[in-house]
Amino acid sequence: MRELIDRLAQEHTLTQQEFIDLLENRDAALDEYLFQRAAAVRQEVFGKQVYLRGLIEFTNYCKNDCYYCGIRRSNREAQRYRLGEGEILACCREGYGLGFRTFVLQGGEDPYFTTARMCALVETIKREFPDCAVTLSIGERPREDYQAMFDAGADRYLLRHETADDAHYRLLHPADMSLENRKRCLWDLKAIGYQVGCGMMVGSPGQTAAHLAEDLLFIRELEPQMVGIGPFIPQHSTPFAVKPAGTLEMTLFLLGLLRLMLPRLLLPATTALGTIHPQGRELGILAGANVCMPNLSPVSVRKKYALYDNKICTGDESAQCRGCLEARLASIGYEAVVGRGDHPDFI
Ligand code: SAM
Repeated sequence: MRELIDRLAQEHTLTQQEFIDLLENRDAALDEYLFQRAAAVRQEVFGKQVYLRGLIEFTNYCKNDCYYCGIRRSNREAQRYRLGEGEILACCREGYGLGFRTFVLQGGEDPYFTTARMCALVETIKREFPDCAVTLSIGERPREDYQAMFDAGADRYLLRHETADDAHYRLLHPADMSLENRKRCLWDLKAIGYQVGCGMMVGSPGQTAAHLAEDLLFIRELEPQMVGIGPFIPQHSTPFAVKPAGTLEMTLFLLGLLRLMLPRLLLPATTALGTIHPQGRELGILAGANVCMPNLSPVSVRKKYALYDNKICTGDESAQCRGCLEARLASIGYEAVVGRGDHPDFI
């Protein structure tokens, strides 16, 4: 198996069967080998720097009904909220003071936030914080809407593809959503000029090694600037409430593979990873990740953005989160940097 990892490091891709072999045969020794190689690659490109993004979860209204997600429209238990422009700007001001130079506006697919409203919001943020990047993560929209938000100043867009396999996509989503449209969105975002992020949950119900291999090949083809992966974690009031969570080990292994596949990738150690293991995010960095996205949302709404159960950092103030993360990174020899943290090709 080590020769496959060596080849991935050299050629930046493998066949689907080779990826399946790696995923099905990984063990602790192979993990260690992969993480060392991935850390060396990450060191060469980014040194010991970890980029921070301030995450603002600005609405949990959603018109979609994804079976895995706690803010799906059918979840009557979800306490819905949306932040006003003033509240969002207050989060940005606090974040700026804490050294964040990227704001990630993430939310459900909330029809209230029309493209006109999003454009106005992005313009206001960019006017007040011209040295900051704005990342949007607000789901599927027509190409012209993506273009309008880009023209308004948005720099990056996160839209996980969730799975690159059609049948698996249909198992995770109701019939009114399609993998075809997800992929269309990602290609449009890329063509427009955004720094684009796709990604998937690890261990989502029905996922096989073959599906993960398809994900890796799709990522290779799309060549995004960012990839967000984290373990699937069940949420008690969704159809997947009793499904098992994804594992730490498989998530870390995929982070390592992604680093070798796309060495300059912006790769977050996600909150979900920190939720399934107390040192999940530190282990994510050691496996090849180079981004952390602490929460900047007002504490009063954090528990309501409950995509999955037991989410961490829902009670802490933003400054506490920032300090905690900095200490965690320092404990493994890494440094949280103040800066936009663009993909190397976009600097
Ligand atoms: N609405 C936007 C979208 O669909 O891209 C952004 C918000 S959406 C809630 C962000 C991501 O949360 C999804 O892409 C999904 O991968 C992740 N997510 C949702 N439910 C989850 C769960 N139960 N466990 C882990 N991740 C989950």
